[in-house]
Amino acid sequence: MTSEYERLATLNKAYLWHPFTQMKEYNSSSPLIIERGEGVMLYDVQGRAYYDGFSSVWLNVHGHNVPELNLAITEQLGKVAHSTLLGMANVPAIELAEKLVEITPPGLNKVFYSDSGATGVEIAIKMAFQYWHNKGFRNKTTFITMDQAYHGDTIGAVSVGAIPLFHEVFRPMLFPSLTIPYPYPYRYGGDGMEAMDATLTALRYLLETRADEIAALIVEPIVQGAGGIIVMPRDCLRQMAELCREYGVLFIADEVATGFGRTGAMFACDLEGVSPDLMVMGKGLTGGYLPVAATLATDEIYNAFYADYEEQKTFFHGHSFTGNPLGCAVALASLKLMEERDMVEGVKVKASFVEQKLAALKDRPHVGEIRQQGLMIGIELVRDKASQVPYDWAERVGVRTSLRARELGMLTRPLGNAIVFIPPLASSIAELDEMTDILAESILYVTEKEGAVG
Ligand code: PMP
Repeated sequence: MTSEYERLATLNKAYLWHPFTQMKEYNSSSPLIIERGEGVMLYDVQGRAYYDGFSSVWLNVHGHNVPELNLAITEQLGKVAHSTLLGMANVPAIELAEKLVEITPPGLNKVFYSDSGATGVEIAIKMAFQYWHNKGFRNKTTFITMDQAYHGDTIGAVSVGAIPLFHEVFRPMLFPSLTIPYPYPYRYGGDGMEAMDATLTALRYLLETRADEIAALIVEPIVQGAGGIIVMPRDCLRQMAELCREYGVLFIADEVATGFGRTGAMFACDLEGVSPDLMVMGKGLTGGYLPVAATLATDEIYNAFYADYEEQKTFFHGHSFTGNPLGCAVALASLKLMEERDMVEGVKVKASFVEQKLAALKDRPHVGEIRQQGLMIGIELVRDKASQVPYDWAERVGVRTSLRARELGMLTRPLGNAIVFIPPLASSIAELDEMTDILAESILYVTEKEGAVG
Protein backbone atom coordinates (compact mmCIF):
# COMPACT_ATOMS: atom_id res chain seq x y z
CA MET A 1 0.00 0.00 0.00
CA THR A 2 1.38 3.41 -0.84
CA SER A 3 1.76 5.89 2.00
CA GLU A 4 0.22 9.36 1.91
CA TYR A 5 3.73 10.74 1.38
CA GLU A 6 4.35 8.47 -1.59
CA ARG A 7 1.00 9.42 -3.10
CA LEU A 8 1.78 13.14 -2.86
CA ALA A 9 5.38 12.68 -4.04
CA THR A 10 4.12 10.88 -7.15
CA LEU A 11 1.58 13.62 -7.89
CA ASN A 12 4.19 16.30 -7.21
CA LYS A 13 6.50 14.69 -9.75
CA ALA A 14 3.70 14.21 -12.26
CA TYR A 15 2.18 17.70 -12.15
CA LEU A 16 4.28 20.40 -10.48
CA TRP A 17 6.93 22.49 -12.17
CA HIS A 18 8.84 24.29 -9.42
CA PRO A 19 10.30 27.82 -9.64
CA PHE A 20 14.05 28.31 -10.11
CA THR A 21 14.49 24.54 -10.13
CA GLN A 22 16.24 22.10 -12.45
CA MET A 23 13.44 19.57 -12.40
CA LYS A 24 15.67 16.68 -13.48
CA GLU A 25 17.83 17.15 -10.40
CA TYR A 26 14.82 17.79 -8.15
CA ASN A 27 12.94 14.72 -9.34
CA SER A 28 15.88 12.49 -8.48
CA SER A 29 15.52 13.36 -4.78
CA SER A 30 12.76 12.86 -2.21
CA PRO A 31 10.61 16.00 -2.19
CA LEU A 32 9.97 17.92 0.99
CA ILE A 33 6.20 18.32 1.27
CA ILE A 34 5.03 20.81 3.87
CA GLU A 35 1.75 20.27 5.64
CA ARG A 36 1.60 23.00 8.25
CA GLY A 37 3.51 25.69 10.09
CA GLU A 38 3.55 26.94 13.65
CA GLY A 39 5.68 29.85 14.86
CA VAL A 40 9.13 29.54 13.27
CA MET A 41 8.63 25.85 12.49
CA LEU A 42 7.37 24.08 9.38
CA TYR A 43 6.17 20.46 9.52
CA ASP A 44 6.23 18.05 6.59
CA VAL A 45 3.57 15.47 5.82
CA GLN A 46 5.69 12.84 7.55
CA GLY A 47 5.60 14.85 10.77
CA ARG A 48 9.21 16.08 10.71
CA ALA A 49 9.86 19.60 12.05
CA TYR A 50 12.13 22.20 10.46
CA TYR A 51 13.14 25.71 11.42
CA ASP A 52 12.06 28.10 8.66
CA GLY A 53 15.62 29.38 8.25
CA PHE A 54 14.94 31.29 5.04
CA SER A 55 11.54 32.66 6.01
CA SER A 56 9.64 30.93 3.18
CA VAL A 57 11.76 32.89 0.72
CA TRP A 58 12.51 35.91 2.89
CA LEU A 59 9.05 37.02 3.82
CA ASN A 60 8.22 35.57 7.23
CA VAL A 61 7.80 38.28 9.86
CA HIS A 62 5.70 36.93 12.76
CA GLY A 63 5.99 33.21 12.06
CA HIS A 64 3.39 30.76 10.79
CA ASN A 65 -0.19 30.30 11.95
CA VAL A 66 -0.29 33.57 13.89
CA PRO A 67 -3.68 33.97 15.63
CA GLU A 68 -3.88 37.76 15.11
CA LEU A 69 -3.14 37.45 11.38
CA ASN A 70 -5.50 34.50 10.92
CA LEU A 71 -8.23 36.51 12.62
CA ALA A 72 -7.69 39.56 10.41
CA ILE A 73 -8.22 37.38 7.35
CA THR A 74 -11.26 35.51 8.65
CA GLU A 75 -12.92 38.74 9.79
CA GLN A 76 -12.38 40.28 6.37
CA LEU A 77 -13.49 37.05 4.71
CA GLY A 78 -16.89 37.51 6.32
CA LYS A 79 -17.17 40.92 4.63
CA VAL A 80 -15.66 40.77 1.14
CA ALA A 81 -12.77 38.75 -0.28
CA HIS A 82 -12.34 40.55 -3.57
CA SER A 83 -13.19 43.97 -4.82
CA THR A 84 -11.36 45.75 -7.60
CA LEU A 85 -9.78 49.17 -7.23
CA LEU A 86 -10.89 49.93 -10.78
CA GLY A 87 -13.11 52.91 -10.11
CA MET A 88 -13.89 51.93 -6.51
CA ALA A 89 -12.10 51.45 -3.24
CA ASN A 90 -12.34 49.14 -0.24
CA VAL A 91 -11.85 49.74 3.46
CA PRO A 92 -8.61 47.83 4.15
CA ALA A 93 -6.95 49.15 0.96
CA ILE A 94 -7.62 52.75 2.04
CA GLU A 95 -6.48 52.22 5.62
CA LEU A 96 -3.34 50.35 4.59
CA ALA A 97 -2.40 53.10 2.12
CA GLU A 98 -2.61 55.67 4.93
CA LYS A 99 -0.43 53.46 7.13
CA LEU A 100 2.19 52.88 4.42
CA VAL A 101 2.52 56.60 3.80
CA GLU A 102 3.00 57.09 7.55
CA ILE A 103 5.82 54.53 7.93
CA THR A 104 7.79 55.17 4.73
CA PRO A 105 10.39 57.93 4.26
CA PRO A 106 9.03 61.47 3.88
CA GLY A 107 7.70 62.45 0.48
CA LEU A 108 6.16 59.12 -0.51
CA ASN A 109 2.47 60.03 -0.40
CA LYS A 110 0.70 57.84 -2.93
CA VAL A 111 0.26 54.06 -2.94
CA PHE A 112 -0.28 51.87 -6.01
CA TYR A 113 -1.00 48.21 -5.19
CA SER A 114 -0.09 45.04 -7.03
CA ASP A 115 0.44 41.41 -6.15
CA SER A 116 4.14 40.51 -6.16
CA GLY A 117 7.51 42.18 -5.88
CA ALA A 118 8.05 41.85 -9.62
CA THR A 119 4.76 43.56 -10.51
CA GLY A 120 5.62 46.31 -8.01
CA VAL A 121 8.89 46.82 -9.87
CA GLU A 122 7.13 46.84 -13.26
CA ILE A 123 4.89 49.59 -11.95
CA ALA A 124 7.84 51.66 -10.70
CA ILE A 125 9.58 51.30 -14.06
CA LYS A 126 6.50 52.23 -16.06
CA MET A 127 5.68 55.13 -13.73
CA ALA A 128 9.22 56.50 -14.06
CA PHE A 129 9.11 56.16 -17.84
CA GLN A 130 5.70 57.79 -18.18
CA TYR A 131 6.52 60.48 -15.63
CA TRP A 132 9.20 61.83 -17.98
CA HIS A 133 6.96 61.31 -21.00
CA ASN A 134 4.14 63.27 -19.37
CA LYS A 135 6.58 66.06 -18.44
CA GLY A 136 7.69 66.28 -22.09
CA PHE A 137 11.13 64.67 -21.68
CA ARG A 138 10.58 61.98 -24.30
CA ASN A 139 14.23 60.90 -24.44
CA LYS A 140 14.50 59.96 -20.79
CA THR A 141 13.74 56.29 -21.36
CA THR A 142 16.78 54.35 -20.06
CA PHE A 143 17.30 52.76 -16.65
CA ILE A 144 20.48 52.28 -14.67
CA THR A 145 20.82 49.13 -12.63
CA MET A 146 23.61 47.52 -10.59
CA ASP A 147 25.73 44.50 -11.40
CA GLN A 148 24.11 41.27 -10.04
CA ALA A 149 20.83 43.09 -9.35
CA TYR A 150 17.62 41.10 -8.94
CA HIS A 151 14.24 42.80 -9.19
CA GLY A 152 11.91 39.90 -10.06
CA ASP A 153 11.08 37.74 -13.03
CA THR A 154 8.63 39.60 -15.24
CA ILE A 155 10.07 41.06 -18.42
CA GLY A 156 10.54 44.64 -17.22
CA ALA A 157 12.03 43.46 -13.93
CA VAL A 158 14.37 41.10 -15.80
CA SER A 159 15.38 43.99 -18.09
CA VAL A 160 16.78 45.79 -15.04
CA GLY A 161 18.16 42.52 -13.65
CA ALA A 162 21.84 41.74 -13.93
CA ILE A 163 22.42 38.15 -12.81
CA PRO A 164 23.67 36.42 -15.97
CA LEU A 165 22.68 32.93 -14.76
CA PHE A 166 19.02 33.97 -14.53
CA HIS A 167 18.74 36.73 -17.09
CA GLU A 168 21.11 36.17 -20.02
CA VAL A 169 18.90 33.74 -21.93
CA PHE A 170 16.16 36.37 -22.14
CA ARG A 171 18.45 39.21 -23.27
CA PRO A 172 17.11 39.36 -26.87
CA MET A 173 13.58 40.08 -25.62
CA LEU A 174 14.55 42.71 -23.01
CA PHE A 175 14.90 46.48 -23.16
CA PRO A 176 18.53 47.53 -22.69
CA SER A 177 19.67 48.97 -19.35
CA LEU A 178 22.93 50.53 -18.20
CA THR A 179 24.81 48.68 -15.45
CA ILE A 180 27.12 50.14 -12.82
CA PRO A 181 29.31 48.04 -10.50
CA TYR A 182 27.88 46.96 -7.17
CA PRO A 183 30.33 47.61 -4.31
CA TYR A 184 31.43 44.05 -3.48
CA PRO A 185 34.90 44.42 -1.98
CA TYR A 186 35.35 40.72 -1.16
CA ARG A 187 35.16 39.64 -4.81
CA TYR A 188 36.37 42.69 -6.69
CA GLY A 189 39.31 43.53 -4.45
CA GLY A 190 40.15 46.69 -2.57
CA ASP A 191 38.49 47.85 0.61
CA GLY A 192 34.92 49.04 1.00
CA MET A 193 35.81 52.63 0.18
CA GLU A 194 37.53 51.75 -3.11
CA ALA A 195 34.56 49.62 -4.15
CA MET A 196 32.17 52.42 -3.28
CA ASP A 197 34.30 54.88 -5.25
CA ALA A 198 34.08 52.66 -8.32
CA THR A 199 30.28 52.57 -8.01
CA LEU A 200 29.92 56.31 -7.52
CA THR A 201 32.41 57.15 -10.26
CA ALA A 202 30.53 54.99 -12.77
CA LEU A 203 27.21 56.49 -11.74
CA ARG A 204 28.55 60.05 -11.91
CA TYR A 205 29.99 59.39 -15.36
CA LEU A 206 26.66 58.11 -16.72
CA LEU A 207 24.78 61.01 -15.16
CA GLU A 208 27.23 63.61 -16.45
CA THR A 209 27.22 62.25 -19.99
CA ARG A 210 23.74 60.80 -20.48
CA ALA A 211 21.28 62.20 -17.90
CA ASP A 212 19.05 63.43 -20.74
CA GLU A 213 18.44 59.78 -21.74
CA ILE A 214 18.11 58.31 -18.26
CA ALA A 215 14.76 57.92 -16.51
CA ALA A 216 15.83 56.35 -13.23
CA LEU A 217 18.32 54.35 -11.21
CA ILE A 218 16.90 51.25 -9.54
CA VAL A 219 18.66 49.91 -6.45
CA GLU A 220 18.22 47.21 -3.80
CA PRO A 221 18.98 49.52 -0.86
CA ILE A 222 21.84 48.58 1.52
CA VAL A 223 21.64 44.83 0.83
CA GLN A 224 21.76 43.19 -2.57
CA GLY A 225 19.70 40.06 -1.98
CA ALA A 226 19.69 37.41 -4.70
CA GLY A 227 23.11 38.63 -5.87
CA GLY A 228 24.52 37.02 -2.69
CA ILE A 229 23.43 39.08 0.37
CA ILE A 230 26.02 41.78 -0.24
CA VAL A 231 25.99 44.76 2.10
CA MET A 232 26.90 48.19 0.70
CA PRO A 233 29.56 50.29 2.43
CA ARG A 234 28.01 52.95 4.65
CA ASP A 235 26.85 56.12 2.93
CA CYS A 236 26.92 54.63 -0.57
CA LEU A 237 23.13 54.59 -0.89
CA ARG A 238 22.80 58.17 0.32
CA GLN A 239 25.42 59.39 -2.13
CA MET A 240 23.80 57.54 -5.04
CA ALA A 241 20.42 59.07 -4.20
CA GLU A 242 21.98 62.52 -3.97
CA LEU A 243 23.73 62.18 -7.33
CA CYS A 244 20.45 61.18 -8.98
CA ARG A 245 18.72 64.20 -7.52
CA GLU A 246 21.55 66.49 -8.64
CA TYR A 247 21.30 65.26 -12.25
CA GLY A 248 17.49 65.02 -12.50
CA VAL A 249 17.20 61.23 -12.56
CA LEU A 250 14.60 59.37 -10.49
CA PHE A 251 15.74 57.11 -7.66
CA ILE A 252 13.80 53.84 -7.28
CA ALA A 253 14.34 51.86 -4.07
CA ASP A 254 13.39 48.20 -4.38
CA GLU A 255 12.66 47.32 -0.74
CA VAL A 256 10.93 44.04 -1.61
CA ALA A 257 13.51 41.99 0.31
CA THR A 258 14.77 44.63 2.74
CA GLY A 259 11.47 46.20 3.84
CA PHE A 260 9.52 45.72 7.09
CA GLY A 261 12.27 45.49 9.66
CA ARG A 262 14.47 42.92 7.96
CA THR A 263 17.60 45.10 8.02
CA GLY A 264 17.12 46.48 11.54
CA ALA A 265 15.18 49.52 10.31
CA MET A 266 11.60 49.64 9.03
CA PHE A 267 13.07 50.21 5.55
CA ALA A 268 16.71 49.97 4.49
CA CYS A 269 16.46 53.54 3.13
CA ASP A 270 15.88 54.70 6.73
CA LEU A 271 19.38 53.52 7.65
CA GLU A 272 20.79 56.44 5.64
CA GLY A 273 17.90 58.87 5.70
CA VAL A 274 17.19 58.35 1.98
CA SER A 275 13.83 59.42 0.53
CA PRO A 276 13.42 57.78 -2.87
CA ASP A 277 11.10 59.00 -5.63
CA LEU A 278 9.55 55.54 -5.93
CA MET A 279 9.66 52.70 -3.43
CA VAL A 280 8.64 49.10 -4.07
CA MET A 281 7.61 46.69 -1.32
CA GLY A 282 6.18 43.17 -1.16
CA LYS A 283 7.17 39.98 0.70
CA GLY A 284 6.92 41.02 4.40
CA LEU A 285 4.15 43.57 3.76
CA THR A 286 1.48 41.02 4.73
CA GLY A 287 3.77 39.29 7.23
CA GLY A 288 4.30 36.95 4.28
CA TYR A 289 0.72 35.71 4.38
CA LEU A 290 -0.84 36.90 1.13
CA PRO A 291 0.40 38.26 -2.19
CA VAL A 292 0.23 42.03 -1.84
CA ALA A 293 2.86 44.45 -3.11
CA ALA A 294 2.89 48.22 -3.30
CA THR A 295 4.71 50.93 -5.21
CA LEU A 296 4.82 54.26 -3.42
CA ALA A 297 5.35 57.52 -5.31
CA THR A 298 5.98 61.15 -4.44
CA ASP A 299 3.43 63.89 -5.10
CA GLU A 300 5.74 65.19 -7.83
CA ILE A 301 5.35 61.90 -9.73
CA TYR A 302 1.63 61.54 -9.01
CA ASN A 303 0.96 65.11 -10.13
CA ALA A 304 2.61 64.49 -13.50
CA PHE A 305 -0.24 62.06 -14.23
CA TYR A 306 -2.97 64.30 -12.77
CA ALA A 307 -4.66 66.00 -15.70
CA ASP A 308 -7.78 66.20 -17.80
CA TYR A 309 -8.46 62.88 -19.52
CA GLU A 310 -7.88 64.40 -22.98
CA GLU A 311 -4.31 65.25 -22.03
CA GLN A 312 -3.55 61.50 -22.16
CA LYS A 313 -1.53 61.38 -18.98
CA THR A 314 -3.44 58.52 -17.30
CA PHE A 315 -1.42 55.61 -15.91
CA PHE A 316 -2.95 52.71 -17.83
CA HIS A 317 -1.83 49.88 -15.61
CA GLY A 318 -3.57 47.55 -13.13
CA HIS A 319 -3.99 43.95 -12.03
CA SER A 320 -7.16 42.03 -11.13
CA PHE A 321 -5.96 41.53 -7.56
CA THR A 322 -4.86 45.13 -7.01
CA GLY A 323 -5.68 46.19 -3.43
CA ASN A 324 -7.16 42.82 -2.48
CA PRO A 325 -9.05 43.40 0.80
CA LEU A 326 -7.97 40.12 2.43
CA GLY A 327 -4.33 40.94 1.71
CA CYS A 328 -4.66 44.56 2.85
CA ALA A 329 -6.44 43.48 6.05
CA VAL A 330 -3.68 41.07 6.99
CA ALA A 331 -1.03 43.67 6.10
CA LEU A 332 -2.68 46.12 8.52
CA ALA A 333 -2.77 43.46 11.24
CA SER A 334 0.88 42.59 10.60
CA LEU A 335 1.98 46.23 10.88
CA LYS A 336 -0.03 46.62 14.09
CA LEU A 337 1.71 43.59 15.59
CA MET A 338 5.10 44.92 14.49
CA GLU A 339 4.42 48.13 16.37
CA GLU A 340 2.94 46.49 19.47
CA ARG A 341 5.89 44.14 19.73
CA ASP A 342 8.49 46.79 18.87
CA MET A 343 9.87 44.38 16.31
CA VAL A 344 12.31 46.69 14.57
CA GLU A 345 14.16 47.28 17.85
CA GLY A 346 13.95 43.54 18.50
CA VAL A 347 15.64 42.79 15.17
CA LYS A 348 18.66 44.88 16.24
CA VAL A 349 19.08 42.87 19.45
CA LYS A 350 18.60 39.54 17.66
CA ALA A 351 20.98 40.58 14.88
CA SER A 352 23.75 41.30 17.33
CA PHE A 353 23.19 37.92 19.01
CA VAL A 354 23.47 36.17 15.62
CA GLU A 355 26.56 38.18 14.75
CA GLN A 356 28.30 37.12 17.95
CA LYS A 357 27.37 33.48 17.43
CA LEU A 358 28.56 33.40 13.83
CA ALA A 359 31.85 35.09 14.72
CA ALA A 360 33.09 31.62 15.75
CA LEU A 361 32.99 30.65 12.05
CA LYS A 362 35.15 33.54 10.87
CA ASP A 363 38.48 31.75 11.07
CA ARG A 364 37.38 28.45 9.58
CA PRO A 365 39.37 27.55 6.46
CA HIS A 366 36.44 27.63 4.01
CA VAL A 367 34.44 30.55 5.36
CA GLY A 368 35.39 33.41 3.05
CA GLU A 369 33.15 36.16 4.34
CA ILE A 370 30.20 36.52 6.69
CA ARG A 371 27.91 39.35 5.60
CA GLN A 372 25.07 40.60 7.72
CA GLN A 373 22.63 43.47 7.93
CA GLY A 374 19.94 42.97 10.55
CA LEU A 375 18.51 39.49 10.07
CA MET A 376 19.77 39.12 6.47
CA ILE A 377 22.84 36.95 6.55
CA GLY A 378 25.00 35.51 3.78
CA ILE A 379 28.04 33.31 4.37
CA GLU A 380 30.30 32.93 1.37
CA LEU A 381 32.12 29.61 1.27
CA VAL A 382 35.42 29.33 -0.60
CA ARG A 383 37.74 26.52 -1.58
CA ASP A 384 40.75 28.47 -0.36
CA LYS A 385 40.51 31.22 2.19
CA ALA A 386 43.87 32.87 1.53
CA SER A 387 43.44 33.22 -2.24
CA GLN A 388 39.61 33.50 -2.02
CA VAL A 389 39.32 30.91 -4.80
CA PRO A 390 35.65 29.91 -4.98
CA TYR A 391 34.36 26.36 -5.07
CA ASP A 392 33.48 25.09 -8.54
CA TRP A 393 29.79 25.31 -9.35
CA ALA A 394 29.77 21.53 -9.94
CA GLU A 395 30.73 20.87 -6.32
CA ARG A 396 27.30 22.11 -5.22
CA VAL A 397 28.71 23.21 -1.87
CA GLY A 398 25.80 25.56 -1.19
CA VAL A 399 23.19 22.95 -2.12
CA ARG A 400 24.93 20.27 -0.04
CA THR A 401 25.13 22.58 2.97
CA SER A 402 21.41 23.30 2.70
CA LEU A 403 20.63 19.60 2.45
CA ARG A 404 22.74 18.93 5.54
CA ALA A 405 20.90 21.71 7.41
CA ARG A 406 17.62 20.11 6.39
CA GLU A 407 18.77 16.77 7.83
CA LEU A 408 19.57 18.61 11.03
CA GLY A 409 16.15 20.31 11.09
CA MET A 410 16.45 23.70 9.36
CA LEU A 411 15.48 24.92 5.90
CA THR A 412 17.78 27.27 3.99
CA ARG A 413 18.43 27.95 0.32
CA PRO A 414 21.85 28.84 -1.01
CA LEU A 415 22.77 31.46 -3.58
CA GLY A 416 25.63 29.71 -5.37
CA ASN A 417 28.36 29.28 -2.77
CA ALA A 418 26.74 31.69 -0.34
CA ILE A 419 24.62 30.17 2.42
CA VAL A 420 21.63 32.36 3.14
CA PHE A 421 20.23 32.63 6.64
CA ILE A 422 17.09 34.75 6.85
CA PRO A 423 15.14 33.69 9.94
CA PRO A 424 11.62 34.92 10.72
CA LEU A 425 11.86 38.28 12.51
CA ALA A 426 9.82 36.89 15.40
CA SER A 427 12.38 34.15 16.16
CA SER A 428 13.34 34.14 19.82
CA ILE A 429 16.96 34.25 20.98
CA ALA A 430 16.68 30.57 21.98
CA GLU A 431 15.41 29.68 18.50
CA LEU A 432 18.15 31.73 16.84
CA ASP A 433 20.66 29.97 19.05
CA GLU A 434 19.55 26.58 17.73
CA MET A 435 19.28 27.78 14.15
CA THR A 436 22.80 29.22 14.14
CA ASP A 437 24.11 25.97 15.66
CA ILE A 438 22.57 24.01 12.79
CA LEU A 439 23.92 26.52 10.29
CA ALA A 440 27.47 26.26 11.66
CA GLU A 441 27.33 22.49 11.94
CA SER A 442 26.14 22.13 8.33
CA ILE A 443 28.84 24.41 6.99
CA LEU A 444 31.59 22.63 8.91
CA TYR A 445 30.24 19.21 7.96
CA VAL A 446 30.27 19.94 4.22
CA THR A 447 33.43 22.05 3.99
CA GLU A 448 35.64 20.27 6.54
CA LYS A 449 34.32 16.77 7.17
CA GLU A 450 33.02 15.77 3.74
CA GLY A 451 35.32 18.11 1.86
CA ALA A 452 34.78 19.07 -1.75
CA VAL A 453 33.48 16.49 -4.16
CA GLY A 454 32.51 16.60 -7.81
N1 PMP B 1 12.97 42.63 -5.76
C1 PMP B 1 13.79 42.06 -4.87
C2 PMP B 1 14.89 42.88 -4.26
C3 PMP B 1 13.61 40.73 -4.49
O1 PMP B 1 14.46 40.16 -3.62
C4 PMP B 1 12.54 40.01 -5.07
C5 PMP B 1 12.25 38.57 -4.68
N2 PMP B 1 13.25 37.85 -4.10
C6 PMP B 1 11.73 40.64 -6.00
C7 PMP B 1 11.95 41.96 -6.32
C8 PMP B 1 10.60 39.92 -6.67
O2 PMP B 1 9.56 39.68 -5.79
P1 PMP B 1 8.48 38.56 -6.13
O3 PMP B 1 9.18 37.23 -6.03
O4 PMP B 1 7.42 38.73 -5.09
O5 PMP B 1 7.98 38.83 -7.50
